[in-house]
Amino acid sequence: MEQLQEKCGIFGIRCDGSEASRLTFSALCNLQHRGQEGSGITSSDYNRIYFHKGLGLVRDVFRKDSVIKKLAGSMAIGHCRYATSGGGGLRHVQPILINDDFAFGHNGNLPSIKSLHKFLRGKGVNVKGFSDSKLMVHAIHWYMENGCSAEDAIVAAYPLFTGAFSAVAMTKTSLFAFRDKCGIRPLVMGKLNGGFVFASETCAFDLIDATFIRDVKPGELVIVDDSGVRSIQVMPSEPAFDLFEEVYFMRPDSLLDGRSVLSMRYKSGTILAKEHPVKVDLVVPVLETGSYAASAYGWKLRIKVIEALVKNRDAKRTFIEPDQRTRELGVLMKHSPVPDIVKGKRIALMDDSIVRGTTSKHLVQAMRDAGATEVHVLVCSPPVRYPDFYGINTPKREELIAAYRSVGEVCQYIGANSLHYLSLEGLIKSTGMPASRFSTSCFTGEYPISLEERALELD
Ligand code: AMP
Repeated sequence: MEQLQEKCGIFGIRCDGSEASRLTFSALCNLQHRGQEGSGITSSDYNRIYFHKGLGLVRDVFRKDSVIKKLAGSMAIGHCRYATSGGGGLRHVQPILINDDFAFGHNGNLPSIKSLHKFLRGKGVNVKGFSDSKLMVHAIHWYMENGCSAEDAIVAAYPLFTGAFSAVAMTKTSLFAFRDKCGIRPLVMGKLNGGFVFASETCAFDLIDATFIRDVKPGELVIVDDSGVRSIQVMPSEPAFDLFEEVYFMRPDSLLDGRSVLSMRYKSGTILAKEHPVKVDLVVPVLETGSYAASAYGWKLRIKVIEALVKNRDAKRTFIEPDQRTRELGVLMKHSPVPDIVKGKRIALMDDSIVRGTTSKHLVQAMRDAGATEVHVLVCSPPVRYPDFYGINTPKREELIAAYRSVGEVCQYIGANSLHYLSLEGLIKSTGMPASRFSTSCFTGEYPISLEERALELD
């Protein structure tokens, strides 16, 4: 199968009297940071399902009002997809609509597809070229075609899904939201004018004036239909939310357990200041994700914080570029140091994470070229030593700069005067939640859901 590892945004709504597709469009705009390659919406007027998808940003795909108007009805699901180095293109944009009667949008990744392959092949389905999401939807649909209601079909197919999934789905009349037993990817539930909404993050609710109710629980299926809302705990809950979501992916204004991601990122800077106070003249945040930690770090140690790396706002995220050369050019295009601010100064760069080391290496050099006398690198998370198999597009283990290198060796590679990572304990403390709530796999190599055949990639 094609290894499409996706980090996406999903949304679902069933709210009588609403223009569901328009609300879905607005919500997806607020989830845009989770996926910029393409997006789609399916809607229903309870008689028929309508569908539109396209490549590019949500606002471009749904630019024409006539497109939104055609997506009739007061129930809809939407998806925005994150491009990876693997296959892109329109055919991978979700929701996936099957037989014009079932639509499905998935955030996450299944490291193991053995059970799904076996099941579908056994039923005579040709699975060649299917992504994990497509395998999931076909398994559910097989049960539907064989007499199950959509609700029963989802429940029946659950044990075949070995991996991370936060999903929304719909038939012509019912809306579904469900999550893997660990709840690796986020999924929240809210209410709006007597109806219900679901989204990857709470920031999607803010724009449409929906009120947050609670998280969809790990292992839970929530159903909204004519008779209201109900829930089935399909699998016992074993919470293990991906800690990297908080470090990098989630929007700062989204809430996790009632606390904003921003406050967690700020706190991580305070803790890093305690763990690793460095003597510098300026702290310079790398990207927005590092900026809250930089403010806290500077505040705590009485060091000025200046955004001396000016960001080209139109630049794409470099991490997802397919090859190293394009990534390197991307880093330079994305950040321009301001020489008259950094010249003659000892600088600490603050980033949220180091993955391949491309960004840090180039920025350290760019700072030196701009006249910095010393360049130290601060990272408000621990070294990323293990790949992700649950839906973040991290590279293979050997490409992770910290996988087989000590902190000193990474420091040497990026050419910094010193390098300091936040400890795992420090990171968890900054969330205000117990360690048992999180999956820390990319830092520790402890994977809460079995990797099965992909475990070989760790050797
Ligand atoms: P690298 O240049 O490969 O070391 O990547 C680290 C940079 O990419 C940091 O500036 C992060 O903010 C950013 N980053 C970390 N994780 C991701 C991700 N999954 N997708 C896109 N960017 C990321």
